Amino acid sequence: TPILVWFRRDLRLSDHAALTAACESGRPVIPVFIHDSLSQGLKAAPKWRLGLGLGHLAETLRDKSSRLILRRESDAQAALDKLIEQTGAGAVFWSRLYDPDSVARDSRIKDTLKQKGVEARSFGGHLMFEPWTVETQQGDFYKVYTPFWNNVKGRDVDAPRSTPGTIPAPDSWPDSDALEDWNMGAAMDRGTDVVRPFVRLGESAAQSRLGSFMAHIVEGYDESRDIPGADGTSNLSENLSLGEISPYQCWHAGLRAREEGKAGAETFLKELVWREFAYHLMHHTPRILTDNWREDWDAFPWQDDARAGDVWAWKRGRTGIRFVDAAMRELYVTGRMHNRGRMIVASYLTKHLLTHWRIGLDWFEDCLIDWDPASNAMGWQWSAGSGPDATPYFRVFNPETQIDRFDKDRSYVSRWIAEGRANPHEDALKFFDAMPRHWGLSPDDDYPEPIVSASDGRHRALQAYENRDF
Ligand code: FAD
Repeated sequence: TPILVWFRRDLRLSDHAALTAACESGRPVIPVFIHDSLSQGLKAAPKWRLGLGLGHLAETLRDKSSRLILRRESDAQAALDKLIEQTGAGAVFWSRLYDPDSVARDSRIKDTLKQKGVEARSFGGHLMFEPWTVETQQGDFYKVYTPFWNNVKGRDVDAPRSTPGTIPAPDSWPDSDALEDWNMGAAMDRGTDVVRPFVRLGESAAQSRLGSFMAHIVEGYDESRDIPGADGTSNLSENLSLGEISPYQCWHAGLRAREEGKAGAETFLKELVWREFAYHLMHHTPRILTDNWREDWDAFPWQDDARAGDVWAWKRGRTGIRFVDAAMRELYVTGRMHNRGRMIVASYLTKHLLTHWRIGLDWFEDCLIDWDPASNAMGWQWSAGSGPDATPYFRVFNPETQIDRFDKDRSYVSRWIAEGRANPHEDALKFFDAMPRHWGLSPDDDYPEPIVSASDGRHRALQAYENRDF
């Protein structure tokens, strides 16, 4: 009987434990994707990017004389039941996910399938270190990154699996929806034709980026990773987020680079472990996704009106603070933002503008093509000061001196800000092509005065912190 391989955030054929196991069984394999309530509930950019990823995966499967069967059904269980009935499948294999909604769905489905006599198997692959396998000497989970890193850094990490040579096809294929009918870009109010060229789509593109990163960039990564105007990081987060590349593939490439003596390789490995740490935290304290991780922060006087004028200025890159505005526009146009930018805009929103981190988290979730529930939540709570191992609240980034340190030649701010420039950079103009017309901005506008200056904001933030009643 056939095996259904249920794809979710693992859009690749290489190093795919569930697919490999299914192929090795010698039974026919039917790859499926179910557009259920969870994927339907994704926000604009992650949903659009998922749609692109699915289209690409379907092509890759066709090259292997296989197919991707698409079904839209809010209840994934119902979709699987129908597929099982239509194909006579005797097993469903998938790669494990870790956010609480997926965990609840998957464990329900596993139980139901088992009751029906259908084999249900989940495999690892999205993470290298299962969150429940890393514990302190007291048997607790980690709340601080460095000891977490020390615990895992020496572990054996499986070598990546290669792509199955053949994917055994069933005698007949079940029906599939047409991907276009799902209209996964419907919620993108920005011009997708502007964003599309910035997408690195699919597993072979991700692999070749990993190769060129290791050949040319990782050596200088210790410094270049902090310079938003440079091509100095791997840029693989969007592919990791959808599983177009596996963390094992990145890890082993990093280990090889370290053995070759490439200077930044160790730091790259550490960054991969930040991702693992974010998942570790989400697994053990799922409330990190929605609530202050440190409950004493519930008393902080956040401004939490998502429609407030200063929040609106922040979203549109019109705060009058160049580093902040450049980064917000990079986000809007490319669907990504450099890590230094993420830290600066998050600090500005939560400290200078005293705005609840949840508002920033939501906007990132709407805009990021590399959106990842665990890393986004950890990043925001870290920046706001409410999270585990967070930056202390009184460490307020000064967005002016950050420019002097990390954008010395101003290449980043001039790439993204058009106002006030005689010959704006072509990417700076793309922001105006991408934004919805009702935003009413023009490259000919004057560049605004700061809505809250670097020094006033710092002062306000520190005062709010001192007056807090926790
Ligand atoms: P590289 O520097 O090449 O690092 C390699 C990989 O390590 C990344 O692809 C990523 O998977 C992982 N990594 C690196 N830094 C971090 C980190 N601080 N936390 C977790 N993993 C990390 N990352 C996301 O993937 N999705 C998000 O939604 C996201 N939201 C964030 C929100 C805020 C407020 C902050 C401060 C950070 C956020 N990050 C998020 C983490 C980080 O900014 C990005 O992972 C990084 O910029 C991706 O670029 P890169 O692939 O070139 O990273």
